[in-house]
Amino acid sequence: MSTATVWPAQAASVPPTLIAPPSLSYELYPPVHRDASDSVHEAIAALEESHPDYVSVTYSGAPHRRRESLRLIEHLVLNTRLRPLAHLTCVGETRESLDVLVRQFLALGVRGVLALRGDLPADPDGDRGELPFARYLIELIREVEDRHTATLAGGRLAVGVAAYAHKHPESPSFQHDVEVLLGKERSGANFAITQVYFDPEDYRKLVAAARAAGVTIPIIPGIIPISTTARLKRLTGMTGIQPPVGLWHALETAGSDAERHAIGTRFARDLARRAFDDGAPGLHLYTFNDHRASLEVIEQLDLPRTRELALPHFA
Ligand code: FAD
Repeated sequence: MSTATVWPAQAASVPPTLIAPPSLSYELYPPVHRDASDSVHEAIAALEESHPDYVSVTYSGAPHRRRESLRLIEHLVLNTRLRPLAHLTCVGETRESLDVLVRQFLALGVRGVLALRGDLPADPDGDRGELPFARYLIELIREVEDRHTATLAGGRLAVGVAAYAHKHPESPSFQHDVEVLLGKERSGANFAITQVYFDPEDYRKLVAAARAAGVTIPIIPGIIPISTTARLKRLTGMTGIQPPVGLWHALETAGSDAERHAIGTRFARDLARRAFDDGAPGLHLYTFNDHRASLEVIEQLDLPRTRELALPHFA
């Protein structure tokens, strides 16, 4: 274990043997063509070796993309030891289509859903669907769950939601986002994963504001190891979040891909360390299906893994 990192429960007076290891999860992107399919399968095989607690599978309502999400989830369930967390967006959907999708997830063996609204259509007259916000999707998921308690052996689905360390582009204020997060918890969310951020203070401030507002669910930092300016630019386009000038400059002036890779990995590792020092209960890595950088971050952090707790029993 890294001497620089303090795992959350160590700060409290919990005996070391009872400390829960931090959660580890990766975000995977369903492949859109054959080449991408090879790279996602390579990423899955490599990431499996680090024993993540779950991998999340992104979702889009476009029919072929939705099909690829379901295919990837099925592959994870049938052919790997990885537990999928299925993303689901409600924009453009009816209550009935969402009900069907949640039941499809259950039938595939999914036991965790990340309930999202999704981005609104660019066309103001575009179909926004029947549920205006993510909290209504959470409620719908809980309704489906109630009808399927037998399938779940009396258990429950884990429902995650998005949290924002930077104000959401449509939101009037950061505080409004915090109130929205509280609303999602009240609708039945069990945990939150943050949108990407680059300044460790942003995560600390989000958690402090959320706790002050009454949010109690775990807020897991979502971190991206990024090693090209092209990807930084794309990310800014997708999220509106400006990367730090220093990171941009370092990547731009680096002499080789290896150097850029090292810069991106180091940056993500330091961000994760700071989040753990601030009490983060786990780490979610946005992989862009590039497993090398994510695995290097994990290696450098030397995270204790949940699976290691089980292994002594089989020795
Ligand atoms: P909401 O929580 O519904 O919030 C959307 C907006 O509405 C916010 O501005 C909020 O402040 C406002 N709002 C919410 N409730 C109310 C209310 N009652 N009254 C007034 N305003 C309100 N997108 C995808 O398409 N596919 C994915 O797989 C995907 N995965 C993601 C994973 C993570 C971890 C994160 C952080 C985001 C992901 N997104 C994904 C992006 C997400 O769909 C967008 O950020 C989207 O614009 C908002 O989704 P949300 O679930 O946060 O929506």
